Amino acid sequence: RKEVGRISVGSQGFNDLIGGGIETQSITEVFGEFGSGKSQISHELAVTVQLPIEQGGLEGQCVFIDTENTFRPERIIQIADGFELDHEEVLSNIHIARAFNSSHQILMAESINELIQQGNNIKLVIVDSLMAHFRAEYVGRESLAVRQQKLNQHLHALQQIANTYNVAVFITNQVQAKPDAFFGSPTKAIGGHVLGHASTYRIWLKKGLAGKRIARLVDSPHLPEGECVFKITSDGIVD
Ligand code: ATP
Repeated sequence: RKEVGRISVGSQGFNDLIGGGIETQSITEVFGEFGSGKSQISHELAVTVQLPIEQGGLEGQCVFIDTENTFRPERIIQIADGFELDHEEVLSNIHIARAFNSSHQILMAESINELIQQGNNIKLVIVDSLMAHFRAEYVGRESLAVRQQKLNQHLHALQQIANTYNVAVFITNQVQAKPDAFFGSPTKAIGGHVLGHASTYRIWLKKGLAGKRIARLVDSPHLPEGECVFKITSDGIVD
């Protein structure tokens, strides 16, 4: 078993909360309402994964599965500037995959295997957002079972990539403000674990006062629950 790697989310407090950054061989889920910062953290990680290890990166590339057209190259450039990195190089290390529907999304995730086998040093897979297509396509009680089955297939493929190639998987999930936020997780469905043995981190993002954000670790295999405050700036995520 390869050594677990960690990718910095930009903020020291946030990194400390999750044990030093998001982990390879795991799926990390952030959930929260609109504007809570899910896409911002995704963009941050797409840059920080490229940093040297001593700066919180894995000197690797990223696959960004974009399901709602939220990927913004301009935002990547701003964050790259904050780290004094070369824009073009940073952008060229991000493989954008626009998923048009849930089947396409599933296929794209599975095709990451080939991308890696072709020699691309992928260290991070982002799915922003995981659930949008599934929610839109499988409407009504009677389709819930099929939706869950497809979602399981998708998550299983992501976990397999994480394990096989020592990759971190980061997924975003939009949920209502609260309190049912805790029950809206695709990775931990009501009535049983969707991912079974998989080690999964779940982080709840909330909007705080004065533009601040709160991250709450709500589920982790071995870390205590806790919270931290972070900010979103033009340079990216900071304490
Ligand atoms: P949604 O579910 O609607 O996609 P989200 O949780 O992904 O929401 P983000 O898009 O990550 O939300 O966060 C949007 C917020 O990030 C904005 O409301 C703004 O406060 C902040 N933000 C975005 N860009 C910048 C920037 N360049 N400088 C400072 N703050 C920014």
